[in-house]
Amino acid sequence: MSTKAYIERVLNTLEVTSPGQDEFYQATEEVLLSLLPLLEEESRYEEQNILERIVIPERSIIFRVNWIDDMGKIQTNFGYRVQFNSAIGPYKGGLRFHPSVNLGIMKFLGFEQIFKNALTGLQIGGAKGGSNFDPKGKSDNEIMRFCQAFMTELYKHIGKHKDVPAGDIGVGAREIGYLFGQYKKITGEFDGILTGKGLNWGGSRERKEATGYGSVYFAENFLAKYNKSLKGKRCAVSGSGNVAIHTIEKLYDLGAIPISCSDSRGTIYHKEGIDLAALKTIKEVHHDSLDKYASVDSGSLYIPLKEYPKDGHAVWHLECDVAFPSATQNELTLVDAKALHKNGCILINEGANMPTTPDALKYIKENKILFSPGKAANAGGVATSQLEMSQNASMAQWSFEEVDIKLRSIMGNIFKIAYETSVEFGCEGDLVTGANIAGFRKVADSMIEQGAV
Ligand code: NDP
Repeated sequence: MSTKAYIERVLNTLEVTSPGQDEFYQATEEVLLSLLPLLEEESRYEEQNILERIVIPERSIIFRVNWIDDMGKIQTNFGYRVQFNSAIGPYKGGLRFHPSVNLGIMKFLGFEQIFKNALTGLQIGGAKGGSNFDPKGKSDNEIMRFCQAFMTELYKHIGKHKDVPAGDIGVGAREIGYLFGQYKKITGEFDGILTGKGLNWGGSRERKEATGYGSVYFAENFLAKYNKSLKGKRCAVSGSGNVAIHTIEKLYDLGAIPISCSDSRGTIYHKEGIDLAALKTIKEVHHDSLDKYASVDSGSLYIPLKEYPKDGHAVWHLECDVAFPSATQNELTLVDAKALHKNGCILINEGANMPTTPDALKYIKENKILFSPGKAANAGGVATSQLEMSQNASMAQWSFEEVDIKLRSIMGNIFKIAYETSVEFGCEGDLVTGANIAGFRKVADSMIEQGAV
């Protein structure tokens, strides 16, 4: 059987064994097909059935979360923790609270996390968790009661040497606080079992900013390879959560012009640059929708969802030099990729996980637009989480500057390994292939060395 046929056989089996898990299948297909040059060169992965093994989580935990709303009524949600791979270290990966969460989304995110974590050069395995709980419109007390109910089950499965969750969509500093408080109450132990903690109780400086800042550092490295810089570049950013806000902040630091942000209801465009302070007030203080933004920034334009191009998103139809998708999966379609190309965009740098659809990715590759895959470009968050774990283990707390130096260096190294691996396999600058092969090789070799476990 040819190597291509071997990969297709594994994918076909997966389609049958994971019905309805479209995002998971999309993620595995992208990774497995990009491994072809490596698998053709090295027979040991096929001989050891590594592909068959690596696409199955070591453990998937699904649980019921009952909580009481403000009316005194019992509400019920699903809770998940997918502990995907621990070959190179304890499980690590965020928690997502969003109504779209299901097992397939958890598996896609957990699978991506394996390779992302390997790329950081740190000893962390891959996992993901969360719930279909929707934090929107909930009171602070309801959020707290939900987090407590969620942790009442999750605590059985995590531990500082076992599994250390963090935040993701819908899980920020407030939720991490409530989750940690409940863990401590149940176990009676003050342990570093979560990252993204508050600075007063074991958090790391720059963890909050790390994914956005890291994404911009990655773009900076990529552009520098082609003798370009971010200075003066018009940057389209999607999303208006943790990753988007800190991407915008770092872009300003480096002299770029972030011209947009978005949420699930609409897009803000400001040619001269987004007002970061106004954005933070609306999103971080009031947890409000972006339609409020236009009234506080007179030079801006609000484009509501109903005015988006067919099969596309307004944010990618703005004239820009660099695009930073930083909201959610499959938010940059073929229609969007074509518009970006037409408008002269030179780099698409994924801050979110899998924001680009497969047909858009194919078009981007064919048209030689530079492309940074999320598993490399957004790894700054998990890398800084690991720095938080190191600080907890040594009871230390580093300064912002110390953490930033480490983050910048880690992002530079991730770029280097992804780029050099692309050169090694004859596809210079194809960082999808470079990042997938580099991450996979480290995990797969560790699995082989540890035997059939
Ligand atoms: P937040 O919850 O802070 O923000 C998410 C943003 O995306 C919000 O603006 C939200 O809009 C928007 N959004 C979410 N779902 C949709 C949707 N279906 N359609 C349109 N917009 C949507 O999450 P983060 O910023 O933390 O995460 C953003 C992305 O980055 C995710 O893909 C996440 O997995 C990834 N990531 C995050 C890391 C982190 O450290 N936080 C680390 C690595 C990756 P609204 O408010 O209207 O819902």
